[in-house]
Order: sequence, then structure tokens, then C-alpha cells
Amino acid sequence: MEDRSQELFARAREVIPGGVNSPVRACHNVQSSPLFIERGCGSHLFDVDGGEYIDFVLSWGPMILGHNDSDVTSAIQKAAACGTSYGAPCEAEVALAAEVVSAIPSLEMVRMVNSGTEATMSALRLARACTKREKVIKFVGCYHGHADPFLAAAGSGLATFSIPGTPGVPAHVVADTLLVPYNDLEQVKAIFQRFPQEIACVIVEPVACNMGLVLPEEGFLAGLRDLTQAYGALLIFDEVITGFRLALGGAQSRYAIDPDLTTLGKIIGGGLPVGAFGGKRCYMEHIAPLGEVYQAGTLSGNPLAMAAGLATLRKLKTKDYAALESRTQNFAQELAAILRAKDVPVQVPTLASMFSVFFTSTPVKDFATAKTADQALFTTFYKQMRAQGIYLAPSSFETGMLSFVHSEEDFARTLEAASKVRF
Ligand SMILES: *Cc1c(COP(=O)(O)O)cnc(C)c1O
Repeated sequence: MEDRSQELFARAREVIPGGVNSPVRACHNVQSSPLFIERGCGSHLFDVDGGEYIDFVLSWGPMILGHNDSDVTSAIQKAAACGTSYGAPCEAEVALAAEVVSAIPSLEMVRMVNSGTEATMSALRLARACTKREKVIKFVGCYHGHADPFLAAAGSGLATFSIPGTPGVPAHVVADTLLVPYNDLEQVKAIFQRFPQEIACVIVEPVACNMGLVLPEEGFLAGLRDLTQAYGALLIFDEVITGFRLALGGAQSRYAIDPDLTTLGKIIGGGLPVGAFGGKRCYMEHIAPLGEVYQAGTLSGNPLAMAAGLATLRKLKTKDYAALESRTQNFAQELAAILRAKDVPVQVPTLASMFSVFFTSTPVKDFATAKTADQALFTTFYKQMRAQGIYLAPSSFETGMLSFVHSEEDFARTLEAASKVRF
């Protein structure tokens, strides 16, 4: 059934570390090996062994219009016919920047990069330069890409100086990364009181999507805005997932918070490698060549990627986000009911077009509570769903994604599959 995938994976492991170009794809967590994908169409993926899957990963977020959307694909084809990279300005960059600035409320200027990692790395550099301070507050379990300063784990879950979360990151590089549990405003306040003149910025996923789906508690985001303002630090919203997904204007439009800087990725590239960071003009003017903060990219603003992003955002402007949200909610509620009837402890939080499945009875509000989820139950669930043609993210610390093209039949098939899972 998965013969060809297995064969490719064996060959891949010879020449690519772990056989994959991004670790979570290896499906280690769920004691499985990856499916090699041949093509995607709408809400479905087709693997090299002829299997068809309903896709709830959506390339980890970007494919909100579904795979191979005809408008996006033809925009890419049209752009490709004119050459694939110039290393000089092109009109599509201006058009995409204008779309992004008009969609995201707090943005006055934006710079394109090639990934979310580059976006957060650059936003941090800018925040440090603008404030002439070095410390950054980051929340445990929030993911901001794989740049060194963000790869830190806390010793005890208390606010503490960080230790590197991976070999290869020198201790001094994360020494200025201060970790706080998500949703813990009191800890943030305590850190500001301890280092009133030293904190450059607070970076946060306004809705946490990289420890499973964890919603901000009432007052958390507004509290971060107040504290950063009071102490002269910048507030960075990492909207790499939430941008154009929670709403066209991202989490900041939904929660009516005005961050200083915003990072974007995933949907902004419509399936091609694009990231972006932007914000208030008074900060963005510090970026070279206007200002002294260096930031650059050979392929940044790439014409193919800009065309894909532009086609995606223009189409999204015509979409009914509220309708997708209510369909997602219904789906998640039915999924939760089916699983609960099997006598397993389960929670299925949902927001906008996202959901996740935590096998725990503990309400999840931060990384510590997310980790109470039973990994063995998730693995059982994942494997049996996949065997029935349902493609879920291979970890309960990932968030399930829906697109505008998931159909009622997709939902019915998924719920039917869930009802057959045996724990
Ligand atoms: C995916 C992600 C990133 C990193 O983006 P890449 O394009 O993978 O480098 C950063 N922040 C958040 C919130 C993300 O979900």
C-alpha cells in the first residue's frame, strides 16, 4: 500500500538527513513514515502509491484556497513565462506589498523575505535596533522559526534565563531570550519590573498554533500591548500562521490589538516561499537602505512567489471567512462528540479554520497543559485515520487546517473514519 513511499524514504535517508527537509515531516512522533506526495488537488492529496487523502495539513497552513487553485497556478505560470528571478525590482512586489498593507491594520510598510524564519529573525533585529535594548520575551511553546535566539527552552517553566533548546546554539545567544508560559500576564509584568530598561520586545503568536491550538485568554493580548507601551518595548505579533487565516487582517484585526511589528509567512506566498515583516513606518524606516539595520535577500520579492501571493490574497478578499469558521466549528464539535463517546479524554479546540485534538481532560492554556495530552492515544488516532485516507498533522502539538474548498463530503468522510477508530 505504501511501497513506493517506503522505497523513496529509504533512498531519501541516504542523501537527506532523516530523509526529510523539515523534521516534523518524518512522522517519527506517531511511529509512522512519511507519505511521498505526487500531487494535490483542492482539499485532497494523492501519494505515489495511488492513495487519496483528505488533507488537514495544507502544507502547514499556506494552502487555504486548496491545492492547485486555478487562479494561483495560472498566475505562477504566467509569471514563469517571463523569467523566474531578476534580482531587481518588479511590479508584483509593489502590488503584493500594497495588498498586505491594506489587509493588515497595523502595517504601514512591509519587507518581503523568503520564509517565516527570516521574518521573525529580521523583526527581532529591528526591534533591538530601534529600542537599543537586547532582551526579548518569548512564550514557551510558541514557535518563531529556527533562528538561534528563538530556540530556547525554559528550565522550569518559570521566567528564567534561557538555555539553548538545541545543540549548536551558544548559551550566550539565548541568554537574552526570557521565557514565560503562554497566557501568563503576571509573569510578563514581573519580568518588566525586573528589567524595566532592558527589554526590546515581546514576541507572541497572538493565537498559539505550534503547541496545538491554544487560544489567548481574555485580556492577555491587550495586557501585552499595555505593558510593552508602558515600558517602551515593541510588541511583535508573529502572524505567520494567523495572518490571512483568522481573518484577512489576521489576529490583530480580530482581537483589535495594534502591534508595532508583524511577521507573516505561509498564506502570503500562496504555496511559494514567502515571508514578510512590517509595521509602523517609524520603525520600518530603520531598515537598510533607508536606515542602518541590515537585512537583504537574493531571491526576496521573487516574481513567481509574488504572483502566487498576489493571486491568493486577491482571491481571499472575495471569501466568506465567517462561513468557513462556522463550518469548522460544526466539524470540530462533531469530531469531539464522536471521540468522547469512545471514553477517551479529549478536547478539540477550534478557532476560525483551525482545530486541534488533545487527548487530555486538563483544559489546555499553555505548553505545560498541552503536554498533558496522551501521545499514545494520539498515535493510535493518527495511524487509523491515515489508514482510512485522512491526512492529519503527525503530532498533537500541530494545528489542523481547513481550506475554503473542504466539502461537506470531506467532513462526513472524516467523521465516519473517526467513528471507526478503536483505542
Ligand atoms: C511556520 C512558522 C514560522 C516559521 O516559518 P518558516 O517559513 O517555516 O520559516 C514562524 N512563526 C510561526 C508562528 C510559524 O507557524
